Amino acid sequence: MNILLLGSGGREHAFAWKIVQSPKCTQLFVAPGNAGTAAIATNLSIGVSDFDKIKSAILNHQIDLVVVGPEEPLVKGLVDYLASEESTRSIPVVGPSKLGATLEGSKDFSKRFMQRHQIPTAAYETFDANQLEQGLAYLEKQSLPIVLKADGLAAGKGVLICQTLEEAKDSLKEMLLDQKFGEASAKVVVEEFLTGIELSVFVATDGKSYKILPEAKDYKRIGEGDTGLNTGGMGAVSPVIFADKDFMDKVEEQIVRPTVAGLAAEDIPYKGFLFIGLMNKNGDPYVIEYNVRMGDPETEAVLPRIESDFVDLLWAIATENLKDYELEISPDYATTVVMVSGGYPGSYQKGFVISLPSDEENTTIFHAGTGRNETGDLTNQGGRVLAITGRGKDLRESLQRTFSTVEKISWKDHYYRKDIGQDILKLIK
Ligand code: AMP
Repeated sequence: MNILLLGSGGREHAFAWKIVQSPKCTQLFVAPGNAGTAAIATNLSIGVSDFDKIKSAILNHQIDLVVVGPEEPLVKGLVDYLASEESTRSIPVVGPSKLGATLEGSKDFSKRFMQRHQIPTAAYETFDANQLEQGLAYLEKQSLPIVLKADGLAAGKGVLICQTLEEAKDSLKEMLLDQKFGEASAKVVVEEFLTGIELSVFVATDGKSYKILPEAKDYKRIGEGDTGLNTGGMGAVSPVIFADKDFMDKVEEQIVRPTVAGLAAEDIPYKGFLFIGLMNKNGDPYVIEYNVRMGDPETEAVLPRIESDFVDLLWAIATENLKDYELEISPDYATTVVMVSGGYPGSYQKGFVISLPSDEENTTIFHAGTGRNETGDLTNQGGRVLAITGRGKDLRESLQRTFSTVEKISWKDHYYRKDIGQDILKLIK
């Protein structure tokens, strides 16, 4: 079949890499893609939220299956748009409806959804600008630290963990009155701070049944030892040692099953991936957030562990046949290290030539912010540039393969965290 994949990150290169391995894929198109997807598929220079051009591409290239990588077009309603157009109505799409995507697009919506379905999550209240006084009074009664979340999409920056009451009150005022995060903070969720270990669980669902994909732990901060500014993600490890069978059984019973059943009960169309950010608090899982797509860089560690046919999985999701899909997961470890432009997540220079080794055994170089200059050299074009994944029979071996490749890659001012996976390695010892 002909497949159209939307997105341009390391996540989409990993999707593309997996899709072209399947005998079911005739031709893969990626819009807009990056230099990595260009090497294995046909890139189309179309933005992920350019609905009309996406529709034309589907018709021009006789696309049989559409796969949406990032959240933005989902939250803007791409899936509903394609379903409402006569010419694209019958084409299966992997990605939730606009209403389904609200699980990520509005924190207040997702908290209310969890409450309705008794899904464990932190205690909270939501306030808008007219309720500032109530919000400030509520803060007075809470213990510290306390978490303030912009209701809408804020490019991963809309969450503040406040250590003092004064800081929390000032932040709430800034968010509601000064629109610190623009429209996204017109409403603010004030939430109890949960202590524990975080991990990400990924679920594929066709709206009726589900399959739990490998879990992962990601590394969000720029600095080693989890210090410094938040980033899109600096690395990932899968599997996660503290997600043992007991814990994952609780995740399935208390979170995954009621979430999928809740979507179905409320007639919220959802055919796609659901990424559940969890806190393991004394062995019990609590939802921190839902995302309505796969994570990046977690995808680059999760997908290499899926052994069953990936296009069959995507097709089963989009055509509501997931129940019969046999998901096979490798017991191997996969670890991903993200290489970034010097200065990221602040400002950085683009256009430096990157020297790459060829893929080594059990290691894959996924591209994110890459492009080619006039002479065809590979260059850095974004903050997060490459994601290197090594696989191995244990964590140590996978890390050793990942870093061996990372050390052979260079461009001016590049940076990566050398401590990815080290915290888990200590737990194993
Ligand atoms: P979110 O965008 O909701 O995932 O929040 C970003 C990060 O803030 C999470 O990955 C957590 O590390 C942290 N965080 C969010 N909510 C809480 C909470 N209720 N308790 C503790 N940490 C949190």
